Amino acid sequence: MADQPQPPPQVLLVTFASQGHINPSLQFANKLINNGVHVTLMSASSMIHQFNKASPVHGLSYAYYSDGYDHAFQLSGDTNHYLSETKRHGTQSLREFLADQGTRFTSIVYCTLLPWVATVAREFHIPATLLWFQPASLLNICHHYFKGYDEIITKNIDDPMFTVQMPGLPPLSRHDLPSFFIPSNPQAMPLLTMKEHVEVLDQETNPRVLVNTFDLLETEAIKAADKWYSMVGIGPLMPNLAETSMGGDLFKVTKEHREMEWLNTKPETSVIYVAFGSLSTLAKPQMELLAKGLLETGRPFLWVIRESTDEQETDPLSRLNELKKLGMIVPWCSQVQVLSHPSIGCFLTHSGWNSTFESLVSGVPMVTFPQWVDQGTNSKLVQDVWKTGVRLRQNEDGMVEAGEIKRCLEMVMGGEEIKKNAKKWKDLAKEAVEEGGTSYNNIKAFVEELTNK
Ligand code: UDP
Repeated sequence: MADQPQPPPQVLLVTFASQGHINPSLQFANKLINNGVHVTLMSASSMIHQFNKASPVHGLSYAYYSDGYDHAFQLSGDTNHYLSETKRHGTQSLREFLADQGTRFTSIVYCTLLPWVATVAREFHIPATLLWFQPASLLNICHHYFKGYDEIITKNIDDPMFTVQMPGLPPLSRHDLPSFFIPSNPQAMPLLTMKEHVEVLDQETNPRVLVNTFDLLETEAIKAADKWYSMVGIGPLMPNLAETSMGGDLFKVTKEHREMEWLNTKPETSVIYVAFGSLSTLAKPQMELLAKGLLETGRPFLWVIRESTDEQETDPLSRLNELKKLGMIVPWCSQVQVLSHPSIGCFLTHSGWNSTFESLVSGVPMVTFPQWVDQGTNSKLVQDVWKTGVRLRQNEDGMVEAGEIKRCLEMVMGGEEIKKNAKKWKDLAKEAVEEGGTSYNNIKAFVEELTNK
């Protein structure tokens, strides 16, 4: 009798409810599906309900856990509270889901900020793998922090001259370390969650962590964590421009803005692209300084200013007419498409990991304006390790002045060395995902293990 065809391995992919986590999750799902795996994408109900499921993707289904909220995560809320509620409600609903459907899953992949998923997976004897959405360096920093560096960091963090040297990383000062290490930071939120991530990994023997990076980009940081777990680069997890949307855009790109047509009218590498991701916003006075800095460069720019949910913040910028003459302001755009447009010469970014990595992969040099969590660390890597950008400096009042913005933009737009480095990393990222490249092989190896389970 002929062998029965094997059913495809089933992966439950559980991800945090924000745009910066949904985007790489969908790309990871896509890679698994292309390798014959069936994926069930699970996130908070508020997030999954916003998905556009009009064109179903073959091999992808959806499920949700409860986070106790009706609306998707917003930075303006109490993030500590949100994370603990997610854990409480999510644990309960994941247990119920797995009690009902758990036997069909070969494996669970859980993403950054959701370590409790691994604990529930263990209760159901389903193997769980962490998919990490920040650079490998950040997990390395967090692990070292909880393995003894916490004392020295906490004691010295207020000293502006203090730097800490951890294995596999450049010397890190206060503003290069994750913002949640600073005790006075009201947004110290992910510290407990990071601790839980480290504890969960410590309970496993030789765990493997899938990271949205590529091996060559972070060789030293990956090596330095070897004694605890093996980190394997499977990135960049970025959409291929030829692919249609997988339905996870929480903000809509409006047709009337026509930014791509506008970019087509601009000379090569002439435009400054400005965006702060899906969560961060700048206070009005800082927006005015940014506007002034942009105007002073005299260069065209495309600036994403998300529509505010806060009524006080809806005051228009004071030099709006001048701004609209020189540049274009949109509430959202298709960033990956914008970054790959030949007219873009520089990205002024909050340096969230997706934005940073997308810029690196597109060969676009950066001016970084970090706000919180991992963004200071990402900026450090951009400026001092990959050397593809510069970081804006704040004045004594914590503001970045217009002159500083202009200075850094000019430096990056005219910097030949920075452009050469940007091109180098772009080429290496491309090699990593091509057939036979490190990220390609690391995903294949993960899928092969699933198939042999
Ligand atoms: N993004 C986009 N259009 C925009 C601004 C952002 O598509 O106008 C996407 C961007 O490509 C990235 C994500 O939103 O994939 C933001 O993630 P990131 O990690 O950079 O920042 P976060 O939103 O988590 O702070």
